[in-house]
Amino acid sequence: MSYVGPDGDDFEDFYRDDDPRRGSGGRRFGGRPLLVTFAALVPTALAAWVLWQVVGGPGETEPPKVLPAAGQPASSSAPASPTPKAESPSAASASPSKSAPAPSKTPPRKTTAPAAGGSGPLRGKVVVIDPGHNPGNFKHTADINRSVNVGNGSKECDTTGTSTNGGYTEAQFTLDVARRLRSILEQQGATVQLTQNGDRAWGPCVTERAAIGNKAHADAVVSVHADGSAAGNRGFHVILPASVQAGAADTRPIVGPSRDLGERIAGNFLKVTGEPPSNYIGKGTALDTRSDLGGLNLSTVPKVFIECGNMRDAQDAGRLTSGAWRQKAAQGISEGIVSFLHG
Ligand code: ZN
Repeated sequence: MSYVGPDGDDFEDFYRDDDPRRGSGGRRFGGRPLLVTFAALVPTALAAWVLWQVVGGPGETEPPKVLPAAGQPASSSAPASPTPKAESPSAASASPSKSAPAPSKTPPRKTTAPAAGGSGPLRGKVVVIDPGHNPGNFKHTADINRSVNVGNGSKECDTTGTSTNGGYTEAQFTLDVARRLRSILEQQGATVQLTQNGDRAWGPCVTERAAIGNKAHADAVVSVHADGSAAGNRGFHVILPASVQAGAADTRPIVGPSRDLGERIAGNFLKVTGEPPSNYIGKGTALDTRSDLGGLNLSTVPKVFIECGNMRDAQDAGRLTSGAWRQKAAQGISEGIVSFLHG
């Protein structure tokens, strides 16, 4: 796809597929039939209000919006913008069969800075969450395309990321999961910093993303992503840093602890979300090791990437576009981090 860099910082860059079954990516959320049936019983204006209230629209972490994906017209089978019921984590509460954790009541903070250290089992622990890409990257291609040195080579400063066939962007996904993850970890007392929180026009560059974790002396860093592989390729995988010693990169001290972190995140993500290990990377282990990602090469603290699913696969996209599922994704990642921090 034209909006994916030729040599970016993501696996999706190797799969510049353009699925001819565009529009097949549907949303799946258990509460919808119930809500639609209920809505049919009341006048339209009231129905809209009731729907908003029932699904907890105001509790959404940010107003749902779809950013233009360069070279990608909106799918005719998908709504122009996601509706609140598709995006709200509260949608799960409308379905008696769901048991997703309740969404945080805390309004989202729009800054990357950590809150004052809290109390709880993670008190004193520092976690940096790196939401992959940036919703504004699409409008700043010259800025993100410039080369940066990642130790063993050069890469683009940042990439736009991928999207579902329906137009839900990876950058929206990563920000939403990161905010949910931050809430969960802060509730346990951790000091949490985001590398970006939709509070800057583009980026940061992968070099800066690594530097933020280093400067924070983070006990753990997780970079949140979703993949853009071919339809039919499914599942999640965690990317671990390879041993790299070149230029400014020296990952040797973090290879071991990062593997530990990654294995714990993979196990807990599988347990909480039910998302299967990738069927196209890692031979069923849900783990991959790479030496070409600047965000890993330049890290001096334990760090992994997680590709939560494949946005170009309809079944995975149904999960990735569900607020209830994203809450589970954040919960699974958090449990892996907590397990790692407690040793
Ligand atoms: Zn990505």
